[in-house]
Amino acid sequence: MSELIKKTAAETAAAVAAGEVSAVEVAQAHLDRIAAVDEKVNAFLHVDTEGALAAARAVDAKRAAGEELGPLAGVPLALKDVFTTRGVPTTAGSKILEGWIPPYDATLTRRLKDAGIVILGKTNMDEFAMGSSTENSAYGPTGNPWDLTRIPGGSGGGSAAALAAYEAPLAIGTDTGGSIRQPGAVTGTVGVKPTYGTVSRYGLIAFSSSLDQGGPCARTVLDAALLHEAIAGHDPLDSTSIDAPVRPMVEAARRADVKGLRVGVVKEFGGEGYQAGVMQRFHESVELLRSLGAEVVEVSCPSFSYALPAYYLIAPSEASSNLARFDAMRYGLRVGDDGSRSAEEVTALTREAGFGAEVKRRIMLGTYALSSGYYDAYYGSAQKVRTLITRDFERAFGDVDVLVSPTTPTTAFPIGERADDPMAMYLADLCTIPSNLAGNSAMSVPVGLAPEDNLPVGLQIIAPALADERLYLVGAAVEAALNDKWGHPLLEEAPAL
Ligand code: GLN
Repeated sequence: MSELIKKTAAETAAAVAAGEVSAVEVAQAHLDRIAAVDEKVNAFLHVDTEGALAAARAVDAKRAAGEELGPLAGVPLALKDVFTTRGVPTTAGSKILEGWIPPYDATLTRRLKDAGIVILGKTNMDEFAMGSSTENSAYGPTGNPWDLTRIPGGSGGGSAAALAAYEAPLAIGTDTGGSIRQPGAVTGTVGVKPTYGTVSRYGLIAFSSSLDQGGPCARTVLDAALLHEAIAGHDPLDSTSIDAPVRPMVEAARRADVKGLRVGVVKEFGGEGYQAGVMQRFHESVELLRSLGAEVVEVSCPSFSYALPAYYLIAPSEASSNLARFDAMRYGLRVGDDGSRSAEEVTALTREAGFGAEVKRRIMLGTYALSSGYYDAYYGSAQKVRTLITRDFERAFGDVDVLVSPTTPTTAFPIGERADDPMAMYLADLCTIPSNLAGNSAMSVPVGLAPEDNLPVGLQIIAPALADERLYLVGAAVEAALNDKWGHPLLEEAPAL
């Protein structure tokens, strides 16, 4: 394994800026790694070799000309295939978008390019980001680099697996109900869901618009902070974008200090249904925070118990409306257009062939929940629950600075285990969904391996909206203390490769 792919993003950027290595060499080392292992991992749906090398050459040229480089210039990145990339295929993991080449860049894509970040390619995901295992991808599942027979989480399993397999030091995910944090937890990587509205959704293929949020994924907390600052900020092209200054996240990650910080343990998350090793590592993390000077108290958020059912009404409702745009006329696949059929028939045949089972299930759920006779009972009630959850957070954040919980109830489960049981699959996001419904920020940071299966466990840290820097303060403190304890970072190598 080349030493270049072992470096953190911060180290790589410093080495490129100092001229110790060229951005092209860094990009090539990662492309070689992808060529060597991705047949097994299946993290990438599309590798953009030419685009990556051209971007790297541009960084090297800038440096040669004496121009100033950004803090992540020359660092490779794996981009979830749900963000549009001009001239590069974008499928959202769906057959219905097979062959579609977007004519424009998402704002996030543009910001990555402007920062000199080298986009290696597009990563695998559950179709339209619906899922917790990447098994709902139309292009086959991704393997977890810790154990290739297990899921890497979802929907952003490709991005998380790319990090854990050392195919890229940085990645981008989207989190509608947990799709950044849960893959982070089960692959031993860091994933952050920013405050809703602080990272542009322009060019992010919509699943559930009031919940979807793009965010950073990395192997270290500092790298996530650097990437977070690169992608955040107001965007006039996104009507829900918040016009507020970007929080000082890199500074917080460097400070890594929790002395005097008030930490609330969410009482409702834990107990029955939670794996013993997950709870053990969680309790140890809480003790660790206490030993680092944090003040730990228990907090009750009673409405969180209703988050999952509320989410599975709101998200499918919005999805059923968002996915109506895939009508066979505008993008990608078109089936049965032989001159003998009406536009409606072609649309129906295309949607039948182009959407997978989970997507169809959600469209049916959503249209049912929104139908005139049931709207108040289902969608209306779910929105009320959403308000109660937001109030639980407001009350809790009156007493504490951050909340903590396990990120997921279990470690990575075997591929296939929950594929035919949507309810079991939905439970993977039990602890992550409340923050999407309320719109606040949250992170998953690795806190060791569960003793019974030697698979990674994530600690979830939750902060109020527009206080994302607190995640980095806590996450970096935990990371540093655990690295000291083990003498090395958790993710030293991809064990299954
Ligand atoms: N697993 C959840 C779902 O299936 C969340 C997905 C996501 O965050 N995109 O909807």
